[in-house]
Amino acid sequence: MEVVNTITVMQEKCENLRLSGKRIAFVPTMGFFHEGHLELMRVGREISDIVVVSIFVNPTQFGPHEDFESYPRDMESDLAKAEGRNVDLVFAPSVNEMYPNGYQTKIMVEKVTKHLCGLSRPGHFDGVTTVVAKLFNIAKPHIAIFGEKDHQQLTVIRRMVKDLDMDIRIVGVPTFREPDGLAMSSRNSYLNADERASALSLNKSLDLSEDLCHQGEREVLKIRGAIEAFILRHPHTAVDYITICDPHTLEDLEILKKEALVALAVKVGKTRLIDNRVIKPA
Ligand code: AMP
Repeated sequence: MEVVNTITVMQEKCENLRLSGKRIAFVPTMGFFHEGHLELMRVGREISDIVVVSIFVNPTQFGPHEDFESYPRDMESDLAKAEGRNVDLVFAPSVNEMYPNGYQTKIMVEKVTKHLCGLSRPGHFDGVTTVVAKLFNIAKPHIAIFGEKDHQQLTVIRRMVKDLDMDIRIVGVPTFREPDGLAMSSRNSYLNADERASALSLNKSLDLSEDLCHQGEREVLKIRGAIEAFILRHPHTAVDYITICDPHTLEDLEILKKEALVALAVKVGKTRLIDNRVIKPA
């Protein structure tokens, strides 16, 4: 496994791989790997010749009062884990390499960014699309792999790729969970034992929404209310949003008729966690 820190070297290596006929799968990450990240690498290995992973905590997708500085980082352990998954190439640039003096370009997807996390984290998705577009130009992948845990991110990236005619296949991978159902996240490392117990309410509330839907409940307000009450019964929780929306447009629904996305962002202590599930009336 090779580790590259500069854009020019990375572009040259990836260009040569493409010219030699290899298919490149790319997994963009912010590092501090857990099994969810490793699952994306495993899928990449399965569907391509070369797996490229980037590790970059991207400052432009964090708000001014968010956790950019304290975001967990462990390059040494990440490289060992990536090597364990037979990753071929890791791109780990500095902030200055990605955004040198004079940098001034942004990519913005208009509508699907105006819901869910886009409301509570203004500018977040502009940071995501911009860095992902840059990383695509650097790693030159045929395929890029993202987690469904960040459903909105996946939706936004698919939109960008379609709108800008990027010749890249986007693959979504189901959320990898701890045995007790907690969605794996680098931010889970912030949780103490009590908060960790309360964090289970996210996935359990998704179970609840699915049960209600299967029992015939069709009113979004009622399902939403039940989820909120359930989560708030757990200590240290504060709801950022609970939204039941169209999985593609992310527009709010009032009545369940077909597939719907139940998406949550909940603060547990100081840690903001997200989770989601697509539910479907029988
Ligand atoms: P991050 O390092 O948090 O930016 O995540 C990098 C990629 O891993 C994104 O595509 C995430 O959606 C994906 N990811 C994060 N957590 C999980 C998980 N629990 N299961 C599957 N994919 C995940």
